[in-house]
Amino acid sequence: MIVEGFRATEPLSLRTHTVVVGSGAGGAVVAALLAEAGVDVIVLEEGGRFTAADFTQRDDEMLPALYREHGLQTTRDGLVTVLQGSCFGGSTVINMADCEPTPPEVYAHWKRLVGEIGLDEKTLAGSQARVMAALEVNPIRDEQVNANNAAVVRGAAALGLSHGHFLNNRVACRGSGYCLIGCAYDAKKGAHLNYLPRADAAGAVLYTDARAERLERDGDQIVGVVGSLVTRGSREARFPFRIEAERVVVAGGAVHSPALLAVSGLSRGLPDLGRNVTLQPQLPVTAVFREPGSIRAWRGIPQASYCSAGDRNSAERGLGGFRLEAVSGGLSQVAVGVPGFGVAHKEAMARLDRTASALLLVPDAPSGTMTWSERAGRGVAARIDYRMRPEWLARLRRGMRQAAEIYFAAGAESVGFASESFPRFAGPRDLDRIDAFEVRTGATRFLSAHVQGTCRMSADPRLGVVDPTHRVHGLRNLYVVDASVFPTSASTHTMIPIMTVADRAAHAMLETRR
Ligand SMILES: Cc1cc2nc3c(=O)[nH]c(=O)nc-3n(C[C@H](O)[C@H](O)[C@H](O)COP(=O)(O)OP(=O)(O)OC[C@H]3O[C@@H](n4cnc5c(N)ncnc54)[C@H](O)[C@@H]3O)c2cc1C
Ligand code: SF4
Repeated sequence: MIVEGFRATEPLSLRTHTVVVGSGAGGAVVAALLAEAGVDVIVLEEGGRFTAADFTQRDDEMLPALYREHGLQTTRDGLVTVLQGSCFGGSTVINMADCEPTPPEVYAHWKRLVGEIGLDEKTLAGSQARVMAALEVNPIRDEQVNANNAAVVRGAAALGLSHGHFLNNRVACRGSGYCLIGCAYDAKKGAHLNYLPRADAAGAVLYTDARAERLERDGDQIVGVVGSLVTRGSREARFPFRIEAERVVVAGGAVHSPALLAVSGLSRGLPDLGRNVTLQPQLPVTAVFREPGSIRAWRGIPQASYCSAGDRNSAERGLGGFRLEAVSGGLSQVAVGVPGFGVAHKEAMARLDRTASALLLVPDAPSGTMTWSERAGRGVAARIDYRMRPEWLARLRRGMRQAAEIYFAAGAESVGFASESFPRFAGPRDLDRIDAFEVRTGATRFLSAHVQGTCRMSADPRLGVVDPTHRVHGLRNLYVVDASVFPTSASTHTMIPIMTVADRAAHAMLETRR
């Protein structure tokens, strides 16, 4: 049963076996698998539920409806916009549908860093296969690749660099280009179309517009979850709820899972809570071509192809290096990303139908901390303090140089980055200027779609927040199952990596019960 909390007319008091907080990549998998095994499950999702008919393909309506903080959540210095979905299905509803497993080198790196946590390719093979099947993962075919993505492939091929198309969870995609604001054709198989309906069919009760605000503790266990049924849109508290439970699984994402633990007074004995923030920041890149109408990046599958040649494996950071990924959003999102003001911005927008765009993804070592403040009746606001390390900045510049080389090899006239102060490269002779690229708030813009790491996993409570079964150290029935448990960046797209560990976590919970 799916209950829309914003329609409630009175407070709620319930009892169940397992409460799952959050309905995104982690929460949806756990809820479905537990419910299918006969466990009484209640899912709490702060955001609203939207179906294909509700996705209007308008940025001004969909960004506030589907994104955390309307898509405007940033690091404290404003340098990185930290994007997260917040709706029934979480970020899987608004993501780019790229389906990439965690690289084996990353698992090996995690073991070196935090000790044995049972995460490796072999152990997770079954979980990964189940997740890929549930999401109907399939390869993007050549004929589905639009001119924007083809430019990266062409340039990489000309330089002999490794490149390819992503796997994706689109089926019967019409190439509308609106993936980032919800698929109006149900072609993108997010959790709202598979795991959550499965949980529903198996008897779970799924509340939308229901924000968990505090966990009640009694000794070494959590006895209840309290929170508010909220208004749709502004998310103001309307009616309180309290749910008694035998087990609580927190899956609110890497910003709000640690927040719930922290505001519930559980930080003591968990020194790593809210630390080890990784963002995998991405720098927008644009390349202008000669022929008007030759690109039109906003139509077709927005993100299909990549070049991943740049200094690949760094032993210290799992998969280091960088990856250039062609991508476009809707026009208003692109307009925000295009540098320049006034006339200069207008001219750049007029060139859009011959402008290729991409993101340069640079995996990072854990480099930040989070703290939270409560906003009366409106949940928490996160403060994300993030520092770009010198090694990361050096790798960023190497990646920028290679991105420019790829686009010039593909025939671009100029290449630029999301910077108000750094002039575009007019040709390969300009590449040596790269050392002068400055990263400064107000001048440079980065995006993050992969925030991770704030409830790191380790068997050692001094090194992590959850143990290898996802159980919070010191509490016998509280689990965290989402992007926050990764010891460092998964160094790739995170949906499949999260769902894979969530499948494993749910099976382990069922095993314990038996
Ligand atoms: C724009 C964008 C594009 C992306 N593209 C890709 C891609 O192409 N491929 C890929 O693999 N990954 C992609 N990702 C990343 C991937 O989708 C996420 O990493 C993944 O979904 C995160 O899973 P999660 O379970 O940690 O949290 P989420 O999926 O974000 O779900 C968390 C849910 O919990 C809810 N919640 C939080 N706190 C509370 C609370 N207190 N009470 C109730 N509910 C709460 C939130 O509202 C949210 O719906 C993208 C992400 C973004 C933002
Ligand atoms: S491009 Fe395909 S998956 Fe994306 S919104 Fe359009 S139809 Fe849906």
